Amino acid sequence: SLTAGVLAVQGDVSEHVDAVERAARDIDESVTVREIRSAGVVPDCDVLLLPGGESTTISRLIHRDGIAPEISEHVAAGKPVFATCAGLIVAAEDAGDDRVGTLGLLDVTVERNAFGRQKDSFEAPLDIDGLDDPFPAVFIRAPVIDAVGENVDVLASWDDRPVAVRQGPVVGLSFHPELTDDSRLHWLALFEAIDGGE
Ligand code: GLN
Repeated sequence: SLTAGVLAVQGDVSEHVDAVERAARDIDESVTVREIRSAGVVPDCDVLLLPGGESTTISRLIHRDGIAPEISEHVAAGKPVFATCAGLIVAAEDAGDDRVGTLGLLDVTVERNAFGRQKDSFEAPLDIDGLDDPFPAVFIRAPVIDAVGENVDVLASWDDRPVAVRQGPVVGLSFHPELTDDSRLHWLALFEAIDGGE
């Protein structure tokens, strides 16, 4: 059985937990979800989800509490991470903001709160590499990905800007797959964890 860890220091944690549990039922996989609030949990996890929220707060707490180096070790071991919105900002190389202590898991430069500033949020049907049909992507004060390194694959773009990227086992999304009923991206996270365990 798989263990999925949802970073739970701040942000839309319960939505991600629900989405993982729903995805597990859909693909008939037994998954234990652990909420990560302190050091020592990440090493037990096969896949990590870094939710949206407030990236300055999330990064401050994971560095203060010793969770940050555990996430880096998880990636160094080739295990999957799904980072959404604020999670993407924290996972980035450069967030253009000194108040965010980024982890450098994804070689991208992001600009915080750049998408949907006027309307605050919007939903768009997004074509994503690996999915047959468009995904209903919810953007909430979403980060724009300004620059991607050569080892980063762009999986989806909106408005000619990357909004879904992958570098090895790390996937970063500008939007919030946990806020829709569509579980396909959470299935992918679980499939990656299953593959990673083989
Ligand atoms: N604006 C948030 C930040 O910069 C991210 C927005 C979100 O996660 N919905 O941390």
